Amino acid sequence: MELTKVVCDAGILGAGGAGFPTHVKINCKAEYVLANGAECEPLLRVDQQVMQVYAADVVKGIRAVKEHTGAKYAVICLKEHYHDAVHALKAVLKDAEDVQLHLLDGYYPAGDEQQIVYDVTGRVVPTGGLPLDVGCVVCNVSTLVNIANAMEGKKVIEKYVTVGGAVKNPVTVRVPVGISLKEVLEAAGGTTTDCDYIIGGPCMGRVVDTLDIPVTKTTGGLLAIPKGHPVYEQKSTTINLKKMMAVCCQCSMCTQMCPRNALGLNVQPHKAMRSLANGVDLMGDMNGIFSCCNCGLCTYYACNFGLKPSQVMQTLKSAIASKGIRARKEVFGPVDGGLENMKVPVSRLIARLGLKKYDVPAPLVDKALTTDCVRIALRMGVGAPSVPKVQVGDKVRKNQLIADIAEGKLGVKMHASISGTVTEISSDYIEIRRTTK
Ligand code: SF4
Ligand code: SF4
Repeated sequence: MELTKVVCDAGILGAGGAGFPTHVKINCKAEYVLANGAECEPLLRVDQQVMQVYAADVVKGIRAVKEHTGAKYAVICLKEHYHDAVHALKAVLKDAEDVQLHLLDGYYPAGDEQQIVYDVTGRVVPTGGLPLDVGCVVCNVSTLVNIANAMEGKKVIEKYVTVGGAVKNPVTVRVPVGISLKEVLEAAGGTTTDCDYIIGGPCMGRVVDTLDIPVTKTTGGLLAIPKGHPVYEQKSTTINLKKMMAVCCQCSMCTQMCPRNALGLNVQPHKAMRSLANGVDLMGDMNGIFSCCNCGLCTYYACNFGLKPSQVMQTLKSAIASKGIRARKEVFGPVDGGLENMKVPVSRLIARLGLKKYDVPAPLVDKALTTDCVRIALRMGVGAPSVPKVQVGDKVRKNQLIADIAEGKLGVKMHASISGTVTEISSDYIEIRRTTK
């Protein structure tokens, strides 16, 4: 069967980023297929362990995408210090020449798609463009494992999640899609103190005020951060305009440290700060704002005054987009010759974030958690919500299709992650409760 149909039927979307439907992403011709195993967000441990345990599936997945896209090169990108994963992949590849390993330094944000593309090919993805504009398809390594599984007829009904931070036993667990974060937290023995929570990593993840939230196919981490920790305040989206106006000295350190700006994409957070503080309209030369990937480096690392240029960038980006202005395809200028020196070691970032004590292993447990109730979100990433194909009261089996792609839209199929009865359908999710153990 055609790979795009196999992938579509399995309900695969990008496991490591915004959740773009994979069957659409791979439906193209490309020169490079790149596997993203950088996992640069501090404290997360999913991809590095998935590459170790499922090295053969990562290789099988990338070979399938390489063949499907007619790519000349297939390259698995991971950090040099993921020794176990490197060893496992080398053991699978032996002397094969059709798939290469590309070893990255331990910097942040090495896992940014644009950085990976540049690191391997020396090409810059334009603002308003995609890696495909420069001949590349980039897939997360867990997505490639899902592709390998799909070739065996398996659906995406489980996800690996690292549970870290102030928890008793940091761990990386396999969980059914739709399980609540509360149950996932219990797998780590609960917290050691009163905490707030981040879904994802400390830089790009989002703060949540409840754990009554289901795991989706893109959830990679749950971090418990002690209440009052500076990271929590820095992540809050509230912008103190008065402080910003009084304190920002326009030193431009945020811009000098911006990895996307260093690629020549004209991402200038100091100008965004100036714009918001003074009400100056900078849209004319701010096309580059669309290239801000919200990595947070400007906020968590560059600014010495505790300001939040990354949040300001997001605010301005939304304001510009709400006026109907879309990104122009452009590479503004040359790559900064000092790019190599700007790479921020993850260890230094962790220290700056005040998270050093939580930078510990979170061993992968390859036995799936069980639950009696799941809520399968109808939207887990880019595209339209999936359309329920079941009704309240229906009995469903694990792996059964329960929601399909809306006709003519971008989206993914959803499958039951446990057997049971459909007990609720809302505009956001389908709830299934187990009826037989
Ligand atoms: S936000 Fe901070 S780093 Fe950026 S220009 Fe202002 S003071 Fe400098
Ligand atoms: S969050 Fe800051 S450092 Fe990261 S891309 Fe955006 S402006 Fe640059």
